[in-house]
Amino acid sequence: MKDYRHIFFDLDRTLWDFDKNAREAFADIYSIFKLKDYGIGNLDDFVKSYHLHNDVLWELYRQGKIEKEYLRWKRFEDTLGDFGISNKQLAMEIGHEYITISPQKVNLLPNTVKTLEYLHLRYPLYIITNGFEEVQFTKLANSNLAGYFKCVITSEAAGFKKPDQGIFNYALKLVGADPSESLMIGDDLITDISGAVQAGMNAIFFNPGRIAHNGGVVHEIFDLIELTKML
Ligand SMILES: [Mg+2]
Repeated sequence: MKDYRHIFFDLDRTLWDFDKNAREAFADIYSIFKLKDYGIGNLDDFVKSYHLHNDVLWELYRQGKIEKEYLRWKRFEDTLGDFGISNKQLAMEIGHEYITISPQKVNLLPNTVKTLEYLHLRYPLYIITNGFEEVQFTKLANSNLAGYFKCVITSEAAGFKKPDQGIFNYALKLVGADPSESLMIGDDLITDISGAVQAGMNAIFFNPGRIAHNGGVVHEIFDLIELTKML
């Protein structure tokens, strides 16, 4: 591989195990708010419904059509609605609790620490994330990842969300990196990979689930530890 001078990582589902952490947070929510007493008999059904609404609302948020405060409670109001519960107050309380609890979870993708231990001695590392600023910083601090990164670039600070080239250009400029000597590593072919490539960066698609695709990516890895052999 070529000589890279700057390495950028996505955070959620690339380093921080979003799905496992969300799952734990939902189990907490289910018991704290006694959702069983509201007639929600099964946590899995609640989570499945949540993901459907969250995906729709996140896409609207990504397009700049709704604000984050709205997204945070609306996804729970819609989820509760699927179970015949109309309770905005409860949705707002759950929404607040969820963003408080979930970033405190500390499950990471396999080999995250080993890989970052190796890489941070050799390259300046950075994060480029679409997550909310305060949430992402809490995740990095609680899971002991903050020390590996010279800089964390959020879509909130950049004013653009991945895959918009604007966030990549903002990050490159901020750290003084040339795109041709920069590498982006992420789990999403569109937001991370195509966005970075369009900004002139190199990219590695992290595909731990071995999802079939015809993304035409130059490099693909299935485990983060592969980076220590490549870089
Ligand atoms: Mg991701």
